[in-house]
Amino acid sequence: MNTEEVNKVKSLLNKPKRVIIVTHKSPDGDAIGSSLGLYNLLLKKGHQVTVIVPNEYPAFLHWLPGDEKVVNYEKQTEQAKKLIADAELIFCLDFNTLKRIDEVGVEVEKAKAIKFLIDHHPQPDDFADYKFHFTTACSTAELIFEFVELTGDKKLLDAESGICLYTGIMTDTASFRFPSVSAKTHRIAAELIEMGVKFWHAHENVYDSNTEDRLRMLGFSLSEKMKILKEYNTAYITLSKSELDRFNFQAGDTEGLVNYCLSIDGIKMAAFFMEKDGTIKTSFRSKGSIDVNAFARANFNGGGHKNAAGGSFSGTMEEAIKKFRSALPEYKSALTGK
Ligand code: 5GP
Ligand code: MN
Repeated sequence: MNTEEVNKVKSLLNKPKRVIIVTHKSPDGDAIGSSLGLYNLLLKKGHQVTVIVPNEYPAFLHWLPGDEKVVNYEKQTEQAKKLIADAELIFCLDFNTLKRIDEVGVEVEKAKAIKFLIDHHPQPDDFADYKFHFTTACSTAELIFEFVELTGDKKLLDAESGICLYTGIMTDTASFRFPSVSAKTHRIAAELIEMGVKFWHAHENVYDSNTEDRLRMLGFSLSEKMKILKEYNTAYITLSKSELDRFNFQAGDTEGLVNYCLSIDGIKMAAFFMEKDGTIKTSFRSKGSIDVNAFARANFNGGGHKNAAGGSFSGTMEEAIKKFRSALPEYKSALTGK
């Protein structure tokens, strides 16, 4: 945003408005953390604010301040449609195309509200009136901090909004370990701690809150389901509907599973496939220069970041794996250096 846009945004935000915050399907820690961070701040500023999510999100995120007020479009469709139609401002957080929010996207597209995009995914579509978009940011939560700073509202951040932003940064960087983390990220985290954020609550609630079923599913996946394709330095895991049922699958239970594959020495690319709502949901992770955003876009109708992307496949698990394996030869030299 240039100075003129920043001034316009400031004046838009200086009078109480009906505000909607939307985030992507199957929201993760950054989606919920950035949304509730902005939600708590805008509430404090006097706005009427609602966060709308397309569908359910993991239990390990249901403790953040404001969580109980989040509207789930899948369960509260009519209420959500009305809120979007009546909104004056709509903030779109942590996604780069309206396709990522399914039916909510149709409502947002036809809404007359002024739209903001705050995001860090590459190649954003052009649907917002104001864009605060940087692919260099480690998380959308980091961008919310900077947006709030730019619009002069940093003084309104507090322990409630702060823990939401901290959780977004923490989860999108796997606890400050990805190359997307900068000195600035640590400065922001330090400022959040100075505002009273009890950062250990975020770590405990997100990482030490497994159910027995979830941990046993992890064990099963690693010992029985992980396949290694040595010739491509690639590892992957598949979970069918009946396998997920066996462990009483809940939203979020498979989050992070793909990263275990990538933790094997020498593995450059990891994939995870799960049967969900009649399709195969895919996750990809990579190290270094291997671009799984391009891989997911080209082969699995998806996208994401260079080293973390996802997508979906219509067909059986066997067909998805066949497609995956047939796409690998093109990446062989990148994956093996040969
Ligand atoms: P995950 O594998 O954790 O679901 O997602 C990793 C990254 O890929 C996230 O940045 C997420 O936004 C993106 N992503 C996941 N699934 C999809 C998808 O179906 N389409 C697109 N465009 N991006 C996705
Ligand atoms: Mn994110």
